[in-house]
Amino acid sequence: MTTTISILGSTGSIGCQTLEILDLTRDEWEINFLTVNTKIAELEQQIKKYHPRGVAISDTKCYLEFKRTTSFTGEILCGEEGVCAAAGDSRNVIVMSALVGFSGVMPTLAAIETGATIALANKETLVSAGDIITKAAQVKNVKILAVDSEHSAILQCLIGESSNEIEKIILTASGGPFRELPKEEFESISLAQALRHPNWSMGNKITIDSATMMNKGFEVIEAKWLFNVPIEKIEVLVHPQSIIHSMVQFQDGSIKAQLGTPDMRVPIGYALHFPHHKPMQFPRLDLAAIGQLTFSPPDYEKFPCLQLAFDAVSMGGASPAILNAANEIAVQAFLKEEIRFIDIPVIIHKCMDTIQNVSHPTLSELTTIDEVTRSTARQECLKLR
Ligand code: MG
Repeated sequence: MTTTISILGSTGSIGCQTLEILDLTRDEWEINFLTVNTKIAELEQQIKKYHPRGVAISDTKCYLEFKRTTSFTGEILCGEEGVCAAAGDSRNVIVMSALVGFSGVMPTLAAIETGATIALANKETLVSAGDIITKAAQVKNVKILAVDSEHSAILQCLIGESSNEIEKIILTASGGPFRELPKEEFESISLAQALRHPNWSMGNKITIDSATMMNKGFEVIEAKWLFNVPIEKIEVLVHPQSIIHSMVQFQDGSIKAQLGTPDMRVPIGYALHFPHHKPMQFPRLDLAAIGQLTFSPPDYEKFPCLQLAFDAVSMGGASPAILNAANEIAVQAFLKEEIRFIDIPVIIHKCMDTIQNVSHPTLSELTTIDEVTRSTARQECLKLR
């Protein structure tokens, strides 16, 4: 028997690694849709190798170009609507949601509506619309399996446990490339420096989020929704080796941890085969060679983005969506070298301070707030240029 899967964002870092995992048990999978934003040349390569039933291209220009040049005879969908249609195709049994940013929300919801299992690599979906997404999943009895190494670790630690016995979740963080950099030197951090993550190889946006530690802030918010625990019970612990992927402490003081090499293919494989650990021949963890695992508390002064994420949860309502949208714009501007590294939290803070919050936002209110935040954040970026 085969399992039908669609991959949203198939040419991104997680998308490509997902295909690599499917290759290990290729005859078990039927590939339904592959969706991309602009990378149509890479999509062509994937079509030749994986023979999807259809594709969706969210960028209209690239869609037209693809249509004009391709020999692909399957279904070709266009725009965000096309991506949503691919995500919401009733044949999907699993949908890997590996889009970047708020653009992941609608397709993920569409996939939930069909009852497909969601392998969720898109953090911004739960950060911005956690309430809506988790409620929809509950109604449809849909499993959301986070692909992130930390949440995969927590999920594994919680198997066989009762959630009311959790005392706290300990999310580990590598601390990124600037863990040891003195605060005075943050002003002059270059783009090239910020893109050099010590342990993980990832897409550009998430690499910058890791350098600012906003990524960890997002993971805190995600953990709150995925495991239904209050934010007070979630703690961040810096662990530079990225070997312990996270831990759960129970009410008797006992702690469970999940360990592994920093390799995203492992949590991807676990989400795809949940709850099984399928054979994989990737390098094994050699603890004797590593010798030491070290830990320290996070530095909220050096990494204000992490504090902003906690603040956004305390403020509630649409604040996490504002946090996310402002961050997306600020990171884009930093990637274009239009603003400095230290401007990123300043812009986010400004947006969280000035944009009107809504206590229980609907999806359309969230979309509006997302747009308003983006335009405010763009203006703030311009002021800083
Ligand atoms: Mg992570």
